[in-house]
Amino acid sequence: MSDPTPALTDPAVDGDAPADATGASSAQEEDALLDRVRPVAGGGRDIKDAATRQVIGRAPEQSVAELDDAVARAKAAQPAWEALGHEERSRLLLAAADRIDASAEALARIVSREQGKPLNGPGARFEAGGCAAWLRTAAATVLEPEVVVDDGEVHAELIYKAVGVVGAIGPWNWPMLIAVWQIAPALRMGNTVVVKPSEYTPLSVLALLSVINEVLPADVLIGVAGGRELGARLASHPDIDKVMFTGSTATGRKIIESSAGNLARLTLELGGNDAGIVLPDADPQAIAEGLFWGAFINTGQTCAALKRLYVHDSIYEDVVSALGQLAEQVPMGVGLDEENVLGPLQNEQQFDIVSRLVEDAKRNGGRVVAGGSPAAELGELFYRTTIVADVADGVALVDEEQFGPALPVIRYSDVEDAIARANGLEAGLGASVWSSDRDAARKVAQRLQAGTVWINSHGGVHPMIPFGGVKGSGYGLEFGVEGLKAVAVPQVING
Ligand code: NAD
Repeated sequence: MSDPTPALTDPAVDGDAPADATGASSAQEEDALLDRVRPVAGGGRDIKDAATRQVIGRAPEQSVAELDDAVARAKAAQPAWEALGHEERSRLLLAAADRIDASAEALARIVSREQGKPLNGPGARFEAGGCAAWLRTAAATVLEPEVVVDDGEVHAELIYKAVGVVGAIGPWNWPMLIAVWQIAPALRMGNTVVVKPSEYTPLSVLALLSVINEVLPADVLIGVAGGRELGARLASHPDIDKVMFTGSTATGRKIIESSAGNLARLTLELGGNDAGIVLPDADPQAIAEGLFWGAFINTGQTCAALKRLYVHDSIYEDVVSALGQLAEQVPMGVGLDEENVLGPLQNEQQFDIVSRLVEDAKRNGGRVVAGGSPAAELGELFYRTTIVADVADGVALVDEEQFGPALPVIRYSDVEDAIARANGLEAGLGASVWSSDRDAARKVAQRLQAGTVWINSHGGVHPMIPFGGVKGSGYGLEFGVEGLKAVAVPQVING
């Protein structure tokens, strides 16, 4: 098997960092970081390794009173942080990125164990490297004032100021990277941030925050660990001015409701069910690896992964069999093993969802080309890399977000029909078109209802390219200049 192609492509991120020559010292640093985030006054909750199911550390379970205290501290710290100015904040963010680089291997090991993604491939080392890269880009990006009218009589400018206190609520699939996507622009613009990581993956995020906080002033960035009730309180808190939320569409709807109370501005990165359309002129062998990693990055637990693939009848069997071969070959197992590039599901609920959807697809005529069952010999939460052919829209594996290693491949004969089916669901995060003819692909791309449409790749993100969903996948943009605007309030200066 050749090297996997990272689907999250960023020139600044080295997805295949060399193996750490000082594995022992990284393990010691990992222990030291886990010690830092341990609950101080007893209590808390054990967190298990997703692959081995052994306890790896203990995370705090903080109360609503502690959350309220964190918001109050963040609110008190915000004016001085904003007053530091862009240059000094950027300097501190760059210093934080350097600290992340220095601790990258330890952070990668923690997220690999807690979340399950292997160190290698587009995995845990890639995630740690991405955190530093996104911080550096936020530090370097400038949101200039805009002169909107200057006609001799009126001079009006739009300037951007901090919103205030940002509440950042994240999921468990790319816990550190998504936290940085929320934190980096927010801090850059002069906001302070209270972060509530997923209850499934608090250790990696708290460890990351502790590393960033080595260089930030007190209370500018505060992590609060706990469950859904804590997230709900953060989203509805009267002193939260902006909520950056990444997670399910169901939770996103609740956050919209709570924003009626505090009028918090929202960025909602919600669930996806990305379609890919393979046009008849595509070369199955040439696109197979791109399709594979588009679907199976992080073992399918990626918001903008390819989750349903529409392939033209004329090359259907060739694409299915190329994907089946890759599915059988790409190594899956414990993430700390340098050989592996696919891992387990992160939690039992997600494992159950994937199992249920594949079983249902089999009952509804799906042909299992690869996988199709748990990989119990690898561990409790492993599910084989699965390709299911001969399914159609209406089958749950196609219509629902699987968020795991099972790709349905759907046959079509009329591209108009494929476009209609791709647009037929509530989700609208990403999509892709695969073809040897870029212009033809672009024409199809423009007709797809998705925040991003990739051509001949799927899921690559870049810190300067805006990213966000439409329809049920939410609203608001992250990354680049648009991402800075999303954590700022515009003010008009007229005169
Ligand atoms: P989830 O909605 O269950 O949880 C996300 C976070 O919200 C957690 O921290 C949780 O504690 C918190 N939360 C739960 N209830 C809350 C409430 N009422 N108010 C406020 N916060 C609350 O999502 P998940 O299962 O952790 O993540 C998987 C989902 O996230 C998938 O649907 C995936 O597609 C989506 N996702 C989207 C993106 C994107 O960029 N669009 C990225 C990653 C994941």
